[in-house]
Amino acid sequence: MGKIREVVNVVAGNEQKDGAGVRLVRVLGPDTVTAFDPFLMLDAFDSRNPDDYVRGFPWHPHRGIETVTYLMQGDIEHGDSLGNKGSIVDGCCQWMTAGSGIIHQEMPQPCPRMLGLQLWINLPAKDKMAKPRYRDLKAAQIPKVEEPSGTVTVIAGRYGDTAGATEGDYVRTLLLEVNLKPGAAWRMPVDPLSTVFAYTVEGAGAFGGAATPVDSRRALLFGGGDEVAAAAGQSGLRFVLVAGRPLREPVAWGGPIVMNTQEELDRAFAEIQNGTFIQ
Ligand code: FE
Repeated sequence: MGKIREVVNVVAGNEQKDGAGVRLVRVLGPDTVTAFDPFLMLDAFDSRNPDDYVRGFPWHPHRGIETVTYLMQGDIEHGDSLGNKGSIVDGCCQWMTAGSGIIHQEMPQPCPRMLGLQLWINLPAKDKMAKPRYRDLKAAQIPKVEEPSGTVTVIAGRYGDTAGATEGDYVRTLLLEVNLKPGAAWRMPVDPLSTVFAYTVEGAGAFGGAATPVDSRRALLFGGGDEVAAAAGQSGLRFVLVAGRPLREPVAWGGPIVMNTQEELDRAFAEIQNGTFIQ
């Protein structure tokens, strides 16, 4: 028997506008950096009104992080300074290593429902200036495991015998979407050394040994242990489970750029000014 991780922190985040005017919920951000290390930011989108998002995120830089955009439903067109261009649609994931620097745009397109999230994973100091890379993980490449309790989509990492579409090149990352049927109980072993959190997308359920259901649209940080347990309420439960080992390195955060020192941030912004940012 493993030790089941209990919820130690519940974060609701707050509604914000970002980019050129996209309404989103910033669930994790600068305030949660230490507790959720190595995960820097989590933005959640859920809208049936294109006015909330069509203004998009026009050209902007990133350095020192990975951005992972996972759409349960929706359509985001993107392009970047490496010459990549494409669309993220229902069930697809874009895993972008900004590394030494990338300039891109992310433009959500009108669709019946935009339901997804963007997770920022910090890069270890030694990899901050890694070669930029970006991966389009198509829905067909992302395994889904059907079980009596529901469906587990294995975007990154491993679920039982099933390897996800990636495991992350720098921070080994577990990223699952778990859809539980009404009343179903579910558990999985997790790395005891990792930071583990769930983001509840829809429905209701309880985590760990707790009997009290948690609201949807919350990030739940788990304490120590080597198993995660969830129990869905009467309407079922959909959540995203994220895990990775903390970096425990200094964080210097300037908007879309996250480095270790102020000097590195200053250099990045000077390079943007003088046109030498892309290496
Ligand atoms: Fe971006």
